[in-house]
Amino acid sequence: MSNIISIVGRPNVGKSTLFNRLTKSRHAIVDSTSGVTRDRHYGKVDWNGIEFSVIDTGGYVIGSDDIFEAEIRKQAEIAIAESDLVVFMVDVMAGITGMDQELAQILRRSRTKVLVVANKVDNNDRLPQASEFYSFGMGEIYSISSINGKGTGELLDEIVSSFAPSKIEPPEDLPRFAVVGRPNVGKSSFVNALIGEDRNIVTDIAGTTRDAIDTHYTAFGHDFILVDTAGVRKKGKVHEDLEFYSVMRSIRAIENCDVVILLIEALEGMNAQDMNIFHLAERNSKGIVILVNKWDTMEKKETNTIKEFTKRLHEKIAPFTDVPVVFTSVLEKQRLLKALETAVDVNTNRRRRISTSKINQFMEKAIHASPPPAIKGKYIKVKYATQLPTHSPAFAFFCNLPQYVKEPYMRYIENRLREEFNFHGVPIKIFFRKK
Ligand code: GDP
Ligand code: GDP
Repeated sequence: MSNIISIVGRPNVGKSTLFNRLTKSRHAIVDSTSGVTRDRHYGKVDWNGIEFSVIDTGGYVIGSDDIFEAEIRKQAEIAIAESDLVVFMVDVMAGITGMDQELAQILRRSRTKVLVVANKVDNNDRLPQASEFYSFGMGEIYSISSINGKGTGELLDEIVSSFAPSKIEPPEDLPRFAVVGRPNVGKSSFVNALIGEDRNIVTDIAGTTRDAIDTHYTAFGHDFILVDTAGVRKKGKVHEDLEFYSVMRSIRAIENCDVVILLIEALEGMNAQDMNIFHLAERNSKGIVILVNKWDTMEKKETNTIKEFTKRLHEKIAPFTDVPVVFTSVLEKQRLLKALETAVDVNTNRRRRISTSKINQFMEKAIHASPPPAIKGKYIKVKYATQLPTHSPAFAFFCNLPQYVKEPYMRYIENRLREEFNFHGVPIKIFFRKK
């Protein structure tokens, strides 16, 4: 289950600096939507074994001041609605500004937990200045320095201690699908075509996270849960038009599902936003099915064949190309059942468990055929391998010198695993560990 926190604050207080420190930039993705006023950053944090997602609500391209302030307010409201906790960042060097006051006012009204964080307290001399922020009347002030890390440990302790200890897992062991994609790609049409306008709801499972209602459906003899998708939700909610809102929704839906059904537009192909969603799913180790929807709109040309399209798509999503692609038309009801069945198969692949003896047989063959290259005259000896007891497939190979095993060799092992066992549509992880 997911926990999502947002960092809110006016420009230049140090939001992205904190974001980069928390996520170590490694896991960050930037969602820059061309022509819009902001970049959004999304990343994963692991603090003492507790994982959560963090969203930096944005850098802003300066436009008119009015639009700009209105945007910041809007984002604060969405952050409140869509996160489990909000970090409200202010700048100890600048003191309280009008914009801070305004944000404080919005945040005070919310029922979401808000932590006031005074940033740029690089040394103890600046500590007293932070006390001015008590005047917000929003409780404790967390004094930190995003640049040198001071105080961030205490802040992280407080953040993770506020998460509900264990969210209720859904009672059924059914595949959980999230139908995601950009606005207008056909998500609602797809869901409606699949489950009917009146919807074959079996039971409602109480939302495990705020506002998320997961529903058990049955269609074409398959039982599954649809995780909080735009397609199932009523249109016309307050923020439905806002793209930021839809990004937050997709993040939560992806984190709470087993298989992401990603719809893209045939005419446009896989674009930058589609890639972001794809990487989000990959990074979260979710199963993935790509539906190239509105295939009916493609003119019949030699370059428009399924083969050509798939080739171009693979170039974009490489190196993880072992992903099923289904060419659908919701309008003409083409391959919708195939899409559903593919998602069911990917879920099966994601749950696949390979016995240790099978893996070791595989390992001997694969490693015999091509052993890890010796480095500085040292030979790497792999002793045995096993699948880890994780939700998504992960394998550990135990050897004498794990630090010498490089990326290309891991990729070789991954590809061999994919040939040997069926992990179509499923990201897999490979670790080399010291025996
Ligand atoms: P954002 O617009 O809120 O995302 O702010 P940035 O993270 O881009 O930071 C704005 C400026 O403040 C940059 O020049 C940072 O280097 C600086 N800054 C961020 N955190 C700290 C800090 O803890 N101490 C000091 N002295 N400067 C900081
Ligand atoms: P959503 O915003 O992703 O939920 O998209 P909708 O389901 O609301 O669909 C957006 C528009 O695309 C609607 O006008 C649909 O009728 C149309 N549409 C959906 N699927 C197809 C398709 O396969 N072919 C064509 N030509 N139009 C489609």
